[in-house]
Amino acid sequence: MSQNILVLPGDGIGPEIVTEAVKVLNVLKDDYGLNIELTYGHIGGAGYDAAGHPYPEESQQLAAKADAILLGAVGGYKYDDLPRELRPERGLLAIRSDLDLFSNLRPAILTEELADASSLKPEIVAGLDIMIVRELTGGIYFGQPRGIRTLENGEREGYNTLVYRESEIERIAHSAFKTAMKRDKRLCSVDKANVLEVSELWREVITRIGKEYPEVELSHMYVDNAAMQLVKEPKQFDVMVTKNMFGDILSDAAAMLTGSIGMLPSASLNSEGIGMYEPIHGSAPDIAGQGIANPLATIMSVSMMLRYSLGKVDLADKVDAAVKTVLQQGLRTADIYVEGLQEEKVGTAAMGDAVVAALKQGA
Ligand code: NAD
Repeated sequence: MSQNILVLPGDGIGPEIVTEAVKVLNVLKDDYGLNIELTYGHIGGAGYDAAGHPYPEESQQLAAKADAILLGAVGGYKYDDLPRELRPERGLLAIRSDLDLFSNLRPAILTEELADASSLKPEIVAGLDIMIVRELTGGIYFGQPRGIRTLENGEREGYNTLVYRESEIERIAHSAFKTAMKRDKRLCSVDKANVLEVSELWREVITRIGKEYPEVELSHMYVDNAAMQLVKEPKQFDVMVTKNMFGDILSDAAAMLTGSIGMLPSASLNSEGIGMYEPIHGSAPDIAGQGIANPLATIMSVSMMLRYSLGKVDLADKVDAAVKTVLQQGLRTADIYVEGLQEEKVGTAAMGDAVVAALKQGA
């Protein structure tokens, strides 16, 4: 039976980069026997334009039937004046909560070929390959009570609640250990157990679940140390798992180690393994329509989809190898182009076509 992929191109550069990722999916279908059907829907500003809502009813119905979702990006200047609940970004939050996508996988990968694009010394970052597993639907961003109240003396006080139930920690733990099993089998859990009771429980539950994955080497690290280690010696990490807010911050720091926002994919999974795959960058309205956006983050999101939702690890490896090949050939979109090196500057479609050609050669 074929697997159903919902494609949501979204706004800005979204349709341009998704077009290239779909070329890759079609090669996998035609030349490698991947049994998939693609359906298309609207999200974000495109959803508002088509149906008056950033996550229209029709997209919800398509998402409910999908085995995996490929998303471009959402957002654009023309939607800035809409009421908050109709803004493009609301579409993203809505689909995440609709599908209960609690596990956010954010890799930070820097191939040897791009080491010069990073602001860190090449020997510190070349060959970097970290996966951060961030809990996405709980913690302090959602905890109740929250608000701003006025105290008896008239002073105002802001407050939020950091709360995690055992079951929430258990499911993100399973997701992280399973991810580690597909990689180098090392997991570092990041917390603040020296100060926070929530973290004490987090550490206890992660340790308990770890007994079900004896092959994975588990370690624990306080978040302040993890931030330092990420910058000092990032290659020590394989998989890191952490709460929503710590993950938000650490994954952005890790992303920046690689020097290019146009190269980083992401996955958000639920407990059935259904996932949404998207580049970490936004809709880049400043370059939309110019044909110069980097499609590689979206193409590598396809690779993550193959690995984490479709169970096609061999094909994921092929896509990753094809991306590596085009980088070795010296092809660079403007965002990763370094003046003075032996590189050829190419546009969005040429980069996508080069990946397709490399894939076809490996078929
Ligand atoms: P952005 O990621 O869109 O762009 C930041 C910078 O990186 C820009 O200079 C852009 O040109 C560049 N860039 C981003 N992706 C690129 C690519 N693939 N190739 C080459 N260059 C690339 O962030 P922003 O400018 O802060 O936000 C723009 C819009 O995107 C806003 O409406 C924001 O809300 C939205 N946004 C959406 C998502 C998402 O869809 N997941 C994430 C972040 C921001």
